Amino acid sequence: MPAWSAGPSPCADMPSDMPSDMPSDTPGEASHGIFDVVVVGAGPAGASAARAAARAGATVCLLERAELPRYKTCGGGLVGLSVDHAGVDLSGLVRGSIDQLTVSLDGGLARTRRRPGRPMLSMVMRSEFDQALVDSARAAGAGLRTGVHVTGLREQAEQDGCVVVSARGGPDVRARVVVGADGTSGRTGTYVGVRCDQVDVGLEGEFPVSSRVAGRWAGRVLLDWGPVPGSYAWLFPKGDILTVGVIGSRADGGALRGYYADLVRRLGLEGVRPLHDSGHLTRVRAAGSPLCRGRVLVAGDAAGLLDPWTREGISFALRSGRLAGEAAARAAAGELSALADYPRRIEAVLGPEMDAGHEVQAVFVRRPWVLHALLTCVPGTFGLFGRIVEGRSTVARQLRRPGVRRVTAAITR
Ligand SMILES: Cc1cc2nc3c(=O)[nH]c(=O)nc-3n(C[C@H](O)[C@H](O)[C@H](O)COP(=O)(O)OP(=O)(O)OC[C@H]3O[C@@H](n4cnc5c(N)ncnc54)[C@H](O)[C@@H]3O)c2cc1C
Repeated sequence: MPAWSAGPSPCADMPSDMPSDMPSDTPGEASHGIFDVVVVGAGPAGASAARAAARAGATVCLLERAELPRYKTCGGGLVGLSVDHAGVDLSGLVRGSIDQLTVSLDGGLARTRRRPGRPMLSMVMRSEFDQALVDSARAAGAGLRTGVHVTGLREQAEQDGCVVVSARGGPDVRARVVVGADGTSGRTGTYVGVRCDQVDVGLEGEFPVSSRVAGRWAGRVLLDWGPVPGSYAWLFPKGDILTVGVIGSRADGGALRGYYADLVRRLGLEGVRPLHDSGHLTRVRAAGSPLCRGRVLVAGDAAGLLDPWTREGISFALRSGRLAGEAAARAAAGELSALADYPRRIEAVLGPEMDAGHEVQAVFVRRPWVLHALLTCVPGTFGLFGRIVEGRSTVARQLRRPGVRRVTAAITR
């Protein structure tokens, strides 16, 4: 791959579609209309990448298909790692702090436990959380263009390094490096050749409730281990809105719809008209799936980076986005080895967590009741679960303990 010279790039030959009056709030656009870094998608991964690249001194353009703030099908549950890596003031965004957990097994055997001390989980509305992340990227110097639907990427290797990003709703944009953060069904994952070996569907509704019902759930989440193998359901309280959803294998879509309907009925919400009612896929990357092709890096859901068991993805998006943004800025400045470093960093930082999630999911698919029994009957397990959610331990670390290894091996045999 050719090095990028600091001098005028051959990509300086701008096509006539590169207008001078393009709507943009992009400060410090690189000379000749080439950005150091273009980020596709303004979710947690994209905003985090744009912020990191801008802080590293790169000229950055963040492209987003939607107008912001936009709705995203998501529980909006921030685990400790998400809180730690958000890098924004969450005090005005958190709609609920969780210190209690009710677990049940297909609607039965419910048990509620309370964890004193720091809250385990923080609840946010994704529209507000993502907007705050984008604001922080802009404050760091990144520009933002919304209503721009990226349709394709083209690398001009023969022209000394530039990627042409084509879009509906705007002209082509040129970059020295692109970070693809356009989510599960975006274009950049396909371009890079991301392979996934677990595809799930999440069904979710946001239900407005009375203060009496809201009070019943304040500070408490519900997790129900579902009847469909590998599925589970949640209720996440956000003041006078309850987010209720199920997730499981896409192959079981019909059964999951039944599970969701049962859940809504059991919670007494069947007569409540949801503010949003939607479905969304999650895809988990296969081992060894690429994270980079040429000068295009992928992060977050676009790369299939999320926990295979819980499908928690925000902390993965924030962390991979930051690493991608830093690598992109270094590469744009001429340090091309940063492009190859990025996949290695992801494997080192997120790989063990994803491997651990696969292991737990393998147990959970076969014997969901084991998890239920551990959480409800075995002393110390609930506290440990809380520490993991809070980010003070990891499943990967726990699975390395010899006793735990023996138990999981016996169950999955
Ligand atoms: C039902 C459900 C519940 C979930 N609950 C939780 C939870 O409680 N906690 C948690 O941590 N994780 C949860 N997740 C996972 C989490 O939502 C994702 O992992 C996270 O949103 C990934 O962030 P991202 O930035 O990679 O992608 P996204 O948040 O999907 O952002 C991608 C952005 O790219 C934009 N985009 C897409 N295509 C284009 C294009 N062609 N051109 C320009 N822009 C484009 C989109 O509009 C979007 O703004 C849940 C997932 C589902 C499905």
